[in-house]
Amino acid sequence: MTDVLAVADHRRGDLRDVSYELVTAGRELADETGGDLHLAVISGTVDEFAQKLDRDGVDAIHTVDYGEEFNHGVYAQTVIQLYDELAPQYVLAPNSVNGLDYAPAVANELGLPIVTDTVDLETDGDTLTATREMYGGKVETTTELEGQAVVTIRGAEWPAADGTGDAAIDAFDVDIDEGALGTTVNGFEEVGGGDVDISEADVLVSVGRGIEDEDNLELIEDLADALDATVSASRPIVDNGWLPKNRQVGQSGKVVTPDVYVAIGISGAVQHVAGMKGSDTIVAINTDPNAPIMDIADYAITDDLFDVVPALTEQYQ
Ligand code: FAD
Repeated sequence: MTDVLAVADHRRGDLRDVSYELVTAGRELADETGGDLHLAVISGTVDEFAQKLDRDGVDAIHTVDYGEEFNHGVYAQTVIQLYDELAPQYVLAPNSVNGLDYAPAVANELGLPIVTDTVDLETDGDTLTATREMYGGKVETTTELEGQAVVTIRGAEWPAADGTGDAAIDAFDVDIDEGALGTTVNGFEEVGGGDVDISEADVLVSVGRGIEDEDNLELIEDLADALDATVSASRPIVDNGWLPKNRQVGQSGKVVTPDVYVAIGISGAVQHVAGMKGSDTIVAINTDPNAPIMDIADYAITDDLFDVVPALTEQYQ
């Protein structure tokens, strides 16, 4: 048992970036175990996805043409059947909404240990050393797992795989028990927010709970106008319904990599930082000098946002 099985992630017809990062993480592990890297591509336009994922270092890609979108039962049943056939040392899944849905069920069904949200992985073939972050990224912990394991990886921690591979691509003959599927996806409803894609913005003005009240968002919008920037937010702002979900930065929102990211009244929780740490220049405005965001900021302004934001707006408009 030396092989690695990684499971690609897609949503609404697009492969997610973490799929390419899974190839890199999987290849590194397979090199350390001396095994092959297998990829599972489940549901959606599997042939197109398989072609895109046939990058350097992928040995085999197994496609399952079953439905368009993620379905817990289809993924769980497929991964378990692939595991039974391939007996990989490690099953790698993304630490995404989808991955966190089926990976624990797979581990439970197979009686394997699971470690989630990993940012680094090393193995000597028997012992897997998985690194995770705690306390807003201030502390790293390592977990050691013996033997076979299920692992989820955090997005944007491994580089995307490139190059063109020559993987063997086959349609995996899965036996889906439809009676056990439980859920079906009937359709999607767009939430508000129009066509703004914060992951494409060059400058983001991002607002957090420090703004206190929905009415105060006007201050942020004025600054965004002055800087020709797009407004994004931390999760509490979205949970409050003050901004639509497609403005949320972070682990359960979007990963953004703008030239400039201005974090206003945002503490810098690890789930938020996961989505914006790739920004070129980070400016943080926070009354608390010890807020975690101040540690990763290139420019940390320790002051009240209700003073700083209007002053900046005036300066740039
Ligand atoms: P807080 O942590 O409350 O920080 C508010 C900050 O504002 C503080 O640092 C404070 O000092 C500062 N402040 C207050 N008043 C002022 C003022 N007048 N001037 C200047 N500064 C001021 N969060 C995300 O953002 N994105 C995600 O995708 C995400 N996914 C999650 C997924 C999971 C599974 C879980 C468990 C959590 C997730 N979270 C996510 C939530 C995350 O853990 C934090 O709770 C959240 O990021 C905190 O948001 P915040 O920084 O706006 O608020």
